[in-house]
Amino acid sequence: MQLIPPPAGTASFTAPRRTLMGPGPSDVHPRVLAAMAQPTVGHLDPAFNAMMDETKALLRYVFQTQNDLTFPISAPGSTGMETCFVNLIEPGDTVIVCVNGVFGGRMIENAERAGGTVVRIDDAWGAPVSPDKVRDAFKAHPHAVALAFVHAETSTGACSDAATLCGIAREFGALTIVDAVTSLVGVPLLVDAWGIDAIYSGSQKCLGCPPGLSPASFSSRALDKVRARKSKSNSWFMDLSLVLGYWNAANRTYHHTAPTNGLVGLHESLVMAAEEGLEASWARHQYHHQALRDGLQALGFAYLVAPEARLPQLNSVHVPAGLDEAALRRTLMDEFNLEIGAGLGPLAGKILRFGLMGYSAREENVRLCLRALEAVLPRLGHAVDKGAALRAAESAWALQQPVAAVA
Ligand SMILES: *Cc1c(COP(=O)(O)O)cnc(C)c1O
Repeated sequence: MQLIPPPAGTASFTAPRRTLMGPGPSDVHPRVLAAMAQPTVGHLDPAFNAMMDETKALLRYVFQTQNDLTFPISAPGSTGMETCFVNLIEPGDTVIVCVNGVFGGRMIENAERAGGTVVRIDDAWGAPVSPDKVRDAFKAHPHAVALAFVHAETSTGACSDAATLCGIAREFGALTIVDAVTSLVGVPLLVDAWGIDAIYSGSQKCLGCPPGLSPASFSSRALDKVRARKSKSNSWFMDLSLVLGYWNAANRTYHHTAPTNGLVGLHESLVMAAEEGLEASWARHQYHHQALRDGLQALGFAYLVAPEARLPQLNSVHVPAGLDEAALRRTLMDEFNLEIGAGLGPLAGKILRFGLMGYSAREENVRLCLRALEAVLPRLGHAVDKGAALRAAESAWALQQPVAAVA
């Protein structure tokens, strides 16, 4: 028998040691990596079941919800988004979708593929979603079944007022679908207090896990809508009525093989989030953001987003005139093992994105980043005032209440 030979030249992969300060993934804490390196157990193993129950309880804490159906979807954040739409939206439903960046645009794709009729609201990329426009859209379309928006738009660094937006949807009796992929654990997010019905996040942003899992939560109102569907969801894998039998049953039955090691990593990151406390985590992101911000501004960078809507964990700055931003990112990677993010869509080549998410939101990362920029920028023709960035960061830290480092 003539077999196709194995490819030539393959060997074990050795990951380079990077510092991840882009839009995600972020640095993963050694505790999370160590947890994931434990032996694989079966996804119906009693020991694993107990860990899953804890994971659900810990997710309720980070989402600040009592929702029974709160669990990690076995796939990346994009699947969390799709799960919301394929379950909550039926053919013919009207959905109001807010677009102020890349991810709002993807919500439209999802709503349309689920058969929804989309009422689109646009805000400038870099601005938050406008509550006035949302109210006007509901007045024009009072029978809209849902409002969908991105809490923390990672493509721009803008944070929208989720509490106000959800309040408006409630007034009109509509459900809310909220993207919290980048916001969870990085900025205040109160699912029950704000009346959010369907929410999803991602493991690789402020939770500081490897990519591939999407924590999600659904209110009883959302589940009523799913139960009242006239047609089956077009997705088998994401159909919540089937997933319930695995995640929410006392006697779990096989739905799909849960990615056990990844879930052990998520569990560890949630234990760490509970140890730190949500308020301390939000404060830590803000504390290092202010230092990075003052340092970046001392280097001549200007923020895309107005101060009141800025996400601490995603810092977007304009590319100064004449600077080759691709060369800057390449050099930071080659010489400093530092990854930062480029602009997306209409902002490609126009902005740079500095992430301070999860375990990446720490002092040594801010220092490395500012030092590296100060070294590289002059070589690319952008003059800097030597030492000014680190001095600015130093005084921003000094002016704030100190926060505890992540152990
Ligand atoms: C990263 C991100 C997603 C997509 O998550 P993946 O894990 O890449 O699928 C969705 N929404 C927002 C706001 C994000 O930042």
